[in-house]
Amino acid sequence: ETMINQIAAGEVIERPASVVKELVENALDAGAGRVEIVTAGGGLNLIRVSDDGSGIAADELELAVSRHCTSKLSTDIHDIRSLGFRGEALPSIGSVSRLTIRSRMASSDAAVEIRVEGGTVSATRPAASNRGTSVEVRDLFFATPARLKFMKGERAETTAINDVVKRIAIAFPGVRFSLSGSDRTALEFPEVDDAAGGRLQRIAQVMGAEFPENSIPIDAVREGVRLAGHVSVPSYSRANALQQYAYVNGRPVRDKLIGAAIRGAYADVLPRDRNAVTVLFLTLDPAHVDVNVHPAKADVRFRDPGLVRGLIVGAIREALAKAGL
Ligand code: ADP
Ligand code: MG
Repeated sequence: ETMINQIAAGEVIERPASVVKELVENALDAGAGRVEIVTAGGGLNLIRVSDDGSGIAADELELAVSRHCTSKLSTDIHDIRSLGFRGEALPSIGSVSRLTIRSRMASSDAAVEIRVEGGTVSATRPAASNRGTSVEVRDLFFATPARLKFMKGERAETTAINDVVKRIAIAFPGVRFSLSGSDRTALEFPEVDDAAGGRLQRIAQVMGAEFPENSIPIDAVREGVRLAGHVSVPSYSRANALQQYAYVNGRPVRDKLIGAAIRGAYADVLPRDRNAVTVLFLTLDPAHVDVNVHPAKADVRFRDPGLVRGLIVGAIREALAKAGL
């Protein structure tokens, strides 16, 4: 079992940022309004994600760290509203680290705690905690030294963690996020009103207050696929593509097709070594997109890639032209 979980961990948990992603997604799935992340040593020494969500029942804590135990299974794979659904993350993380989960449901006046060390699960025991869940991961990959050797160093891992938090935060403007700890960089995104322009406020928090002023709004529909968001004016470009954020039906994705389409749209106005700053939200019939290509769930496969590519290129070019650029 530990072996199977470690193999799964190789798929799902590539680096500390993958742990942060899984734990933050779990907090959001639990309906958190506040997600607090603390890291040390680029996440290799410590990752702690605390939330004020639903909490986990005492008698379900052990299940939560067991393989393929998810409380989120939906009958229709295309109608997955939660971010997680495989029941793989916690057992995977527990198999390669020292994991402690402490949780208290709103309806309960006592918290419970469970520990997993390199796959060995301890008995659930009483603990002290506020409402919600706190998941602490220490010594990531101590149980798989080969994987540990692949880590790029504290700086690179810290940057990747920041990136993950930013990507998710843009999709959840109504949730407060904070990232802190001994790792130099810190983030603080106070919650904003999701409806009244909240999304743009969150975009400004994450991407910088100058971004909205240096961008053009996009809103286009083609054959039932909607593309909305903001794209930078050519003068506001970057040497790397780190500041290109993309979402498909509300989930953060990293997709080659989307990146290539953005590049294509700017081909006439940006040199090859410059990258536009973009935040794009694609909304389409869930049956027309597969977001489950990889367990880490960042890739997507569109049923009609040409349509999506054409929509992105066309909408950005049109917006640039309208702005006289
Ligand atoms: P999945 O998210 O795919 O269901 P995970 O291994 O990430 O699988 O989590 C297992 C289960 O543990 C979840 O289905 C959920 O019931 C519970 N869980 C994990 N994290 C939290 C959290 N922060 N708050 C409430 N429940 C949680
Ligand atoms: Mg999960």
